[in-house]
Amino acid sequence: MTARFAWVLSSILFATAFAPLAQADWMERTETIMGTRCYVELWADDPAKGDEAIDAVMAELRRIDNLMSHYKPESQLSQINAHANERPVQVDKELFDLIKLSTHYSQITEGAFDITYASVGYLYNYPGHVHPTEEQIKQALPGVNWRNMLLDEEHHTVRFEHPGMRIDLGGIGKGYAVDRGIEILKARGITHALVTAGGDSRIIGDRFGRPWLVAIRHPDNPKKVVTRIPLSDSAVSTSGDYERYFDEKGVRYHHIIDPRTGHSASKVRSATILAPTATQTDGMSKTAFVLGAEKSLEIINRMPEYDAVFVTPDGRVLYSNGLRPPAPRPAGASPAAPTAGTPPVR
Ligand code: ADP
Ligand code: MG
Repeated sequence: MTARFAWVLSSILFATAFAPLAQADWMERTETIMGTRCYVELWADDPAKGDEAIDAVMAELRRIDNLMSHYKPESQLSQINAHANERPVQVDKELFDLIKLSTHYSQITEGAFDITYASVGYLYNYPGHVHPTEEQIKQALPGVNWRNMLLDEEHHTVRFEHPGMRIDLGGIGKGYAVDRGIEILKARGITHALVTAGGDSRIIGDRFGRPWLVAIRHPDNPKKVVTRIPLSDSAVSTSGDYERYFDEKGVRYHHIIDPRTGHSASKVRSATILAPTATQTDGMSKTAFVLGAEKSLEIINRMPEYDAVFVTPDGRVLYSNGLRPPAPRPAGASPAAPTAGTPPVR
């Protein structure tokens, strides 16, 4: 009896000494999905459950990529591009709804955001240093106009009403995927997390009493930080002309295209948008490149859920009203100008 007791006791000691310490902790993982860096960080009470939650988010990002990638010929989006010039193409409600939503952003950005930009956008190849000639742009540009996408709500079909049209969800798909990832984490009871896909991120909760600090990098120097924004329970997207680009004869050819001209849109160097969801921030982060910082601030300042930080070509950093530092104003002084700025970044 004593011997048996001793064996049980020793096995308990062994178990205590050698069992992995399953304790609550921050967990993180990075994978390349949708042609970009995807990152999940979360607080897990149980590491096994945390791992499963990260697996589920990554699987969801891959699922969305398979549905919506214009690089994958078998994706539903590629089926639209292949056939919608001849006939209505039926797709899953999920993809249809995101295409429909993209037209909402076209509307509020006065056409700066337009997924039919791809009708000319496909002529660029940034890693290959290829850009279209003026003649090629002239020929392709009439295909750019979101109003020529016929969307049938009842049958979830898409039909192009102009020859040579194409679409690409590169400007909103990652934000949508991030939101789906966050929904998955919330459904699993995760209350502190960050999900990132390319330039789009969303945060739930904070870092136990402290906010997450999101850094906005200098357009020409990835090691230099222009400003940091404290965030919790929010989404943030940054678009920059330094993400996918090449320079030729002093001109920067980069991946945000002005739907009106077919050229890279260069009215700002970077745009950071804050809002509750990453679909919202992604849908708005291209606008200032096309319309300019001042016009975009007008739009952002009209929408209470949004804030923005723009870095202009001459190095100014402009903030929307919600992010303006409260400037002490002497009594009787006139109200502050509509945009706040800081000294130029060099
Ligand atoms: P990321 O992909 O890193 O999140 P952005 O949010 O800045 O980067 O999106 C850039 C992408 O948006 C481009 O690669 C392209 O697919 C798409 N795009 C470019 N110009 C436009 C535009 N005018 N309207 C809608 N989408 C665009
Ligand atoms: Mg984005």
